Amino acid sequence: EQILGESMHDFKPVAWEDIAGLESAKSTFLEAIIMPLRRPDLFTGVRCPPRGVLLFGPPGTGKTLIAKSIASQAKAKFFSINPSSLTSKWVGDAEKLVKTLFAVAAAHQPAIIFIDEVDSLLSKRSGNENESTLRLKNEFLIHLDGAASNEEIRVLVIGATNRPQELDEAVRRRFVRRLYVPLPTMEARQKIIEKLIRQVKHSLDAMQITELAELTDGYSGADVDTLCRYASMAPLRSLTPDQMEVIETHQLPAVTIADFKQALRVI
Ligand code: ATP
Repeated sequence: EQILGESMHDFKPVAWEDIAGLESAKSTFLEAIIMPLRRPDLFTGVRCPPRGVLLFGPPGTGKTLIAKSIASQAKAKFFSINPSSLTSKWVGDAEKLVKTLFAVAAAHQPAIIFIDEVDSLLSKRSGNENESTLRLKNEFLIHLDGAASNEEIRVLVIGATNRPQELDEAVRRRFVRRLYVPLPTMEARQKIIEKLIRQVKHSLDAMQITELAELTDGYSGADVDTLCRYASMAPLRSLTPDQMEVIETHQLPAVTIADFKQALRVI
């Protein structure tokens, strides 16, 4: 109960527009996942959607964000499990927990089970490690197959990994749809910066924002997010605690391009 409680998430809905870039992934998901969860009667037989989806790509590129957005749009319950807590807290009992997780998800369908770092749970190596991880892996395979073979059960499993090569073949096969989630393009980075700095007083013009997007080549979405957060703290960082206590919001200086340049040296 405790782990299921931890794993069942209510979160602020994530709109497609909140995800910068990744246009082709979004349209794939709309057709392959979201509409089938909303209108299962239209997607039967040969149109039956995949029940296992793998998102792979570098860390911080929005895989979790995509999974949450799919759940928001499909109006599905979202269960997120963290493999390390599964295996450490539930040694021996983990497979029972997996069984319960799928049963609870089916009772709340449509539902999405999101497994971050799925490679650490279902890797090639786990078979050699010990009996309990092997049982856990088999339990997962049984439920992935169960969900895939029963059109009535609207439970989708989304796995995310930065190391797809670590997954074993049997697991990889169950994730019928596999999508690469790349680092953001310049345009996507620009959108992330625009969206975040809109939330604070700033003096950046369009050209400076474009310049920042160019300077952050190679950054993940999460890195750009961290950069913006760091830069936007600059006006506060210059204040002493006593000044901060009394300053009016409108008196705060704007965040400047210099603050971003400084942040680029740190992040
Ligand atoms: P990890 O592999 O490390 O678990 P992830 O791919 O699941 O990472 P997220 O957790 O979804 O990445 O992204 C981290 C944060 O980075 C998000 O909360 C968001 O603020 C930002 N971010 C990443 N990619 C994007 C994007 N394409 N558009 C908007 N924000 C993004």
